Amino acid sequence: MVDIDLESIHKAFDDAVALEEVSLTVEDGEFFTLVGPSGCGKTTTLRTIAGLSSPTDGTVRFDGEDVSDVPVEDRNVGVVFQSYALFPHMTVTENIRYGLRFTDPPRGLTADERVEELLELVDLPGMGDREPDELSGGQQQRVALARALAPAPDVLLLDEPMSALDARLREQLRREIKRIQRELGVTTVYVTHDQEEALAVSDRLAVMNDGGVEQVGTPVEVYEQPATEFVASFVGENNVFSGVVAANENGELAIEVDEKAPEGHRFHVAAEDHGGHAGHGAAADTDADDSHVDEAHAVGDHVTFCVRPTNLDPAASQNRFPVALGADEYLGGTTRLYGEWAGREIVLRLPEPPAEDAITVGFDPTEATLL
Ligand code: ATP
Repeated sequence: MVDIDLESIHKAFDDAVALEEVSLTVEDGEFFTLVGPSGCGKTTTLRTIAGLSSPTDGTVRFDGEDVSDVPVEDRNVGVVFQSYALFPHMTVTENIRYGLRFTDPPRGLTADERVEELLELVDLPGMGDREPDELSGGQQQRVALARALAPAPDVLLLDEPMSALDARLREQLRREIKRIQRELGVTTVYVTHDQEEALAVSDRLAVMNDGGVEQVGTPVEVYEQPATEFVASFVGENNVFSGVVAANENGELAIEVDEKAPEGHRFHVAAEDHGGHAGHGAAADTDADDSHVDEAHAVGDHVTFCVRPTNLDPAASQNRFPVALGADEYLGGTTRLYGEWAGREIVLRLPEPPAEDAITVGFDPTEATLL
C-alpha cells in the first residue's frame, strides 16, 4: 500500500479554475474523504490522484515518488464511479475479470480464483453468472467495487459510489465498504457531498470549498474545532455569530455581536481552548491553529464564533437570549427548531417543541467555538 501526497495542485480548464491550490497527504492504509458542496473540486482532485486528469501545476506523489506524469494504467489504482459503469452485456464474472485487463491476479491466483475470492469479499457468492440488470443497485455497486479491487490496487478511489442508492442501502453499503477497506488495508480516497457520511466513514477528511481545502482533520476535529466559518456551517448544523471583542479577561471574551442585537448585549465566549467543546479534549490537543488562546484576541478585534444547536439550552444560566420560533421538524427522539434572534436564523435542537412561540436559551462560554 502507499501514501499519497498532493503538493500545490492547480487545475485550470479553458474557462474555469477547478482547483486553486490543493495540498494534502493521505496516509498509508487510511480511509480519507474529500467532502464539500457541488463544484468545489472533489472529483477533479480524485481524478488527479487516479491519473485521469493531469494537473496544470503541482505534483502528485505515491510513496514519495513523483507520479504526476504516470498514466492511470500504471498507477495501480482502483476506481469506482458514481454510475456503476458495468458492461450490461457481460456477466458479473466477466465484469470483474475486466478489472484484471492490465494486471495479473495477485498471489499467483488464476483469474477465476480471484473472481470467486472477490465475490465472497463483497458478499455476492454464487452471483457470477448473472448480468447487471438481474442485480439491485446496491449489488451492482458491489460488483463495481470488486472489479476495482481485482488487481489488488495500492489505492482505492471512490467517487460518490452510493449516490444512486436509497438512504438505508447507502448506510448498509458504506459499512460494507469500510469493512472491506479495513480488511484489505488499502489506502482509500472517498468523495462525497454528504457531510454526515464523511463523518461516519473517515479516518480523516478534507473539507473542500471553491477549489481549495478549508480544513483537514479527523471527524471529531473537524466537527468540534471547525477552522473556518464555512466548515462550521457545512459540517453539521451550527449557529454562527460575529462581533467585536469588548473585553478580554479571566479567559473569556465579551463579544458585542453586530448592530441588530439589543444595545449592550454581550456574549461571553471562552477565549482559551479548554478542550471542553462537547467534552472532546483530543480535538484541542491536535489543533494546529492557536487562535483559541486569549493572547490572539485584543479588544476591538472582529471575531466569529459558533454554537451547535445541541448546545443552546433553555436551562443554561449564561449567554441567554430570546428566540422567536418558526418551523420545527420532528426527527425522532429530538426536534429541530428554526427561530430568529436579532435578524439572524437560529437553529435549536430540543426533545420536543415548546408550546410557546418564543423561548429563551443560553449557552456555556466553553461550548462556543471561536473560528
Ligand atoms: P460535484 O459534487 O457536483 O460532482 P465536484 O466537487 O466533484 O462537484 P468537480 O467536478 O471537481 O467538482 O468540478 C470543479 C469545477 O471544475 C466545477 O466548477 C466544474 O464545472 C469545473 N470542471 C470540471 N471538469 C471540467 C471540464 N472538463 N471542463 C471545464 N470545467 C470543468
